[in-house]
Amino acid sequence: MHKKNIAELVQVLQHRDISSVELTRLVLERCTNINQKLNCFISITPEHALLQAKLADEKINQGNAGPLTGIPIAQKDIFCTDGVKTSCGSKMLDNFIAPYDATVVEKLNNAGMVMIGKTNMDEFAMGSSNETSFYGPVLNPWDMDRVPGGSSGGSAAAVAARLVPVATGTDTGGSIRQPASLCGITGLKPTYGRISRYGMIAFASSLDQGGPMTRTAEDAALIMNAIAGFDERDSTSAENPVEDYTQHLNNSIAGLKIGLPKEYFDEQLNPDIGRIIHEGVKELEKLGANVKEISLPGSKLSIPVYYVVAPAECSSNLARFDGVRFGYRCNDPEDLSDLYCRSRGEGFGREVKRRIMIGTYVLSAGYYDAYYLKAQKIRRLIRDEFRQALSKVDVIIGPTAPGPAFRINELLDDPITMYLSDIYTVSVNLAGLPAISIPAGMLGGLPVGMQVIGNYFAEPRLLNIAHRFQQVTHWHKLAPAGFD
Ligand code: GLN
Repeated sequence: MHKKNIAELVQVLQHRDISSVELTRLVLERCTNINQKLNCFISITPEHALLQAKLADEKINQGNAGPLTGIPIAQKDIFCTDGVKTSCGSKMLDNFIAPYDATVVEKLNNAGMVMIGKTNMDEFAMGSSNETSFYGPVLNPWDMDRVPGGSSGGSAAAVAARLVPVATGTDTGGSIRQPASLCGITGLKPTYGRISRYGMIAFASSLDQGGPMTRTAEDAALIMNAIAGFDERDSTSAENPVEDYTQHLNNSIAGLKIGLPKEYFDEQLNPDIGRIIHEGVKELEKLGANVKEISLPGSKLSIPVYYVVAPAECSSNLARFDGVRFGYRCNDPEDLSDLYCRSRGEGFGREVKRRIMIGTYVLSAGYYDAYYLKAQKIRRLIRDEFRQALSKVDVIIGPTAPGPAFRINELLDDPITMYLSDIYTVSVNLAGLPAISIPAGMLGGLPVGMQVIGNYFAEPRLLNIAHRFQQVTHWHKLAPAGFD
């Protein structure tokens, strides 16, 4: 059963070859066993899951099932889940039981999905390796000495190891796409505002966006159908009408105009990754796509801009964790200031503190113009450059990450190199565009992802391209040894 993707599981559930309760029991057992190796879950929630599975069986038996009824899912532990611990990978929220569901969770529950548990992640989604989690690192199922990527590393590892067919992720600078690439799965970062951020613990509010992590593009489309749409509880949520994301999956891509930015294929890129991406693009050319070189000179500035904007927003968002209202509180504070200082000092990890300090610095009166304001101006230039490029080509293709999965501890003391692992992904968040990472090859036994970036709200087109690619390639079908 664990080999089946969503589209296949729907068939067995609706033919009643297996009930949702039986399926859930199998999945819970597999998750509990394998989690001891991979550490991809912070919480596994059997009671919650079996209750939802029972309800799903009732719907199926009454003939009221939808396309996701009874399908297991894992939620990244950044999404609030009513009555279930929501830690965001931090000691700060280790004791936090969310009193309500995030919109994404509510919608997936309403679609009849069965939540198996909450996945491990970098603390407050800050990281590219899952090593900043209070709950310890997640191991990559392809090589357990390596990281799964981050910050949605638990979700990526759980889907790659065939524990669940889908997990949610969030992407502020690459956290859906980069772990998808490093774990050999499909990860879609939707247009900013397409998925509600209500109940998704905020890291950098102008960049954060939730999305699906699945094995196939078809499954990502099924999940998008359930979670996309306007939400009046999120003031930045987009009012654009929602399409049926499964409808265009099989469309022809003949005549598709692909732009390859020369800056994405320069000497910084591992040449083997470059070769894999070019081979992937050739597959699309065989399906009728046309390729031309483009230039995105501003992309070189995306890392410095991101590491001003994201910490600035995080320093403001994380100010709420002060030991007073919820979350961790230090023992025996002497006075209010001691309560603030020690609760935050003890509750946050090193990377989070580093970001808060950078953020408060770039927002401070003396440095605001030099750093924050300048970063915002360059952010606009980056967005304009994408807009211009996307008026000439339909999609932009490049690598998702500069290399395959790196070793645990390899970059932990080298934050700059760690930050560079998002070099191809952060500019997409700065511009608010949608992008998908799809498995496109293997390098030394490790998966490599190809990134397809589209225009605003072009998710149906991205899913169509990814689906056509997956019809003629087998990379997304490969499973790590021992998890197949
Ligand atoms: N790795 C990037 C960071 O550390 C992006 C994280 C994310 O997308 N949540 O900020």
